[in-house]
Amino acid sequence: MKIRVGQGYDVHRLEVGRPFWLGGIQIPCEFGPVGHSDADVVCHVLCDALLGAANMRNIGYHFSDKDPRWKGVDSKVLLAEVLRMVREAGYDISNVDVTVVLQEPKLNPHIPAMKTCLAGVMNIPEDDISIKATTSEHIGFVGRGEGIAAHCVALIYR
Ligand SMILES: [Zn+2]
Repeated sequence: MKIRVGQGYDVHRLEVGRPFWLGGIQIPCEFGPVGHSDADVVCHVLCDALLGAANMRNIGYHFSDKDPRWKGVDSKVLLAEVLRMVREAGYDISNVDVTVVLQEPKLNPHIPAMKTCLAGVMNIPEDDISIKATTSEHIGFVGRGEGIAAHCVALIYR
């Protein structure tokens, strides 16, 4: 069996009045991330980690932010397409592990709903999806509330 690992990293600016999409769900908040798509950093790092594991470049390569098709797109659509591509290359998903770095709001109450949503989109068990949240201790762009970042590792096999 061939086992491969991939990692993803993403950042989006936060702005008042934007819907806060994260892990496929909308979080009640007076601000949210800005991007060409719905700016869901959890979906984006999952795409990049899975594409990286399969050595298939990155999310921007397949879904360009210059392409009007992807303007305002639900990132779950992109994630489902990435899974289709990775599975088409013969891989199955072992597990994924995401860390979201955000000063506020607190994300822990929303993590179970994100896992349920993503398990449906990715067609893998919730037990294979880990989502963790941390702050940046009020330091840097995340600490000042200017942005949200996320990291992800994914393990795939065939
Ligand atoms: Zn992104």
